[in-house]
Amino acid sequence: MLNIVLFGPPGAGKGTQSELIVKQYGLLHLSTGDLFRKHLGEGTDLGKLAQSYMDQGNLVPDAVVIKMVEDRIATEFTAKGFIFDGFPRTVHQALALDQMLLKHDLSITGMLSLEVQASELRIRLRERGKTSGRKDDQDDIKIENRIKVYNEETKPVADYYKHQDKYVSIKGIGSIASIFQLIMYELDAFK
Ligand code: AMP
Repeated sequence: MLNIVLFGPPGAGKGTQSELIVKQYGLLHLSTGDLFRKHLGEGTDLGKLAQSYMDQGNLVPDAVVIKMVEDRIATEFTAKGFIFDGFPRTVHQALALDQMLLKHDLSITGMLSLEVQASELRIRLRERGKTSGRKDDQDDIKIENRIKVYNEETKPVADYYKHQDKYVSIKGIGSIASIFQLIMYELDAFK
């Protein structure tokens, strides 16, 4: 079983690579951003709560995210494992993830961290904003805020996994296929 955290700044390619990983390894994709956007689209209370944070590129409060992931893990169990995309984004969330997995006798196998410099992220996010319909990709101030939030609140999560000897760095620049090759190499080494 593989339980993988796919980590990296906004625009690093986590969603794109997750799709390929799901196809190749049959893991269950758990993207907190996708889950929030689904709630938003359906107009649920959770969606309404998350909207103001998402629109500004800020993090939704930990308790809300953790509860949503906990419910998902409890109902969507898979023998092959999970790929966590966009979660955990704070050290508090990382601790909570370890605890909730432990309840099911599971643990994180490893973190793959996609490394992409900020100048490239800005280009990618603006480009994605032309077609994604995502408000948070279409505004330079929101893009800057998301990169800032990543640097200040999310980056320390990498250290959390480094201390557990579970951190693997992946160069996130190049073709989608070549980056996926690097990812497959690391995932096969975990097995
Ligand atoms: P993403 O699709 O991963 O870029 O997430 C879009 C937005 O959803 C983020 O900018 C946050 O507002 C919110 N979000 C997604 N995942 C998390 C998380 N783990 N913790 C807090 N907020 C999150």
